[in-house]
Amino acid sequence: MRAAVLEEHGEPLAVKDVDYPEPTADQVIVETEACGVCRSDWHAWQGDWSWIGAGVPEGQILGHEPAGIVSAVGEDVETLEEGDRVAVPFHLGDGTCTHCREGRANNCETVIPLGLTEFAPGAFAEAFPVREADFNCVKLPDEVDFAEMAGLGCRFMTAYHALADRADLRPGDWVAVHGCGGVGLSAIHIAQALGAHPIAIDVLDSKLERAEELGAVETINGADVDSTPQEVQAITDGGADVSIDALGIAETCQNSVNSLGTRGSHVQVGLTTGEEQGQIELPVDVMTMQEIDFHGSFGMPLVRYEELFNLIAQGTLEPGKIIGETLSLEEAPETLASMDDYETVGIPVITEF
Ligand SMILES: [Zn+2]
Ligand SMILES: [Zn+2]
Repeated sequence: MRAAVLEEHGEPLAVKDVDYPEPTADQVIVETEACGVCRSDWHAWQGDWSWIGAGVPEGQILGHEPAGIVSAVGEDVETLEEGDRVAVPFHLGDGTCTHCREGRANNCETVIPLGLTEFAPGAFAEAFPVREADFNCVKLPDEVDFAEMAGLGCRFMTAYHALADRADLRPGDWVAVHGCGGVGLSAIHIAQALGAHPIAIDVLDSKLERAEELGAVETINGADVDSTPQEVQAITDGGADVSIDALGIAETCQNSVNSLGTRGSHVQVGLTTGEEQGQIELPVDVMTMQEIDFHGSFGMPLVRYEELFNLIAQGTLEPGKIIGETLSLEEAPETLASMDDYETVGIPVITEF
């Protein structure tokens, strides 16, 4: 089968023939119908995250936002069969640790991130294996658009958990979204759908225009203002209730915290780059005195999918709105490389394998 392989960090992915996967007893094989290309793929490709022991090895098949159809089933798998339509969250849990037993595979003690380690070849391929498939596969309704559902494996669900669970977003809240890539645009759409008032912040007007289409009530081009936090403070008359760093550089993280009002909640969704290596200075005294919360947010507990699907079925949430271009697997190397300049608008989704 064809797959896009990271052969050397920073060099174009190699699209080539590799062996079709065979399921072990606990696995299913999923034929990929759609897979998003994510900022995390770009980080992996750059060779980031060695500072948290999560550097991605050369030889890796990337791809962690898939939706597809089960094509082969391991002998111990009980709840899935060939032909089932599934989304696969990027955080593959073991299904047995304390967190998994609570449905929180995103906090699994032995989590294996799909497409980001040699133990889980990814979905930039015609097919890919899923460990502990009964636990990790999320069955999709019959009538789904696979490209729309691909984001449910990573960005869309990440934004949902960040806002609905970690920040406990309320209708009427002001939400500042720093960085309008895939997860940021998802956060804008979700915030407005949940009755909040999103403010979109980026340095590219093309992304801010997309954010407005998705429901941003105000936009700030960070390149045109002296201080993004001051702009947010002025718009919200004292600071946002919730602010999210959807990029993961020092500037957006600090701007996000400084955009908040008293008792505001910052949510860190973006992982950092080689510049920060996970270390960012924060105004701790102000955070203490104003009782500002700093939340990390990673993926989404599996138990939250039901609510997400209900909101999609009702038409409240429309994950398809976040899609940018659709492309073929052969075009994936070029699309990934083009993310160097942060100009990609919306989520690129591979739909031809
Ligand atoms: Zn992702
Ligand atoms: Zn676990």
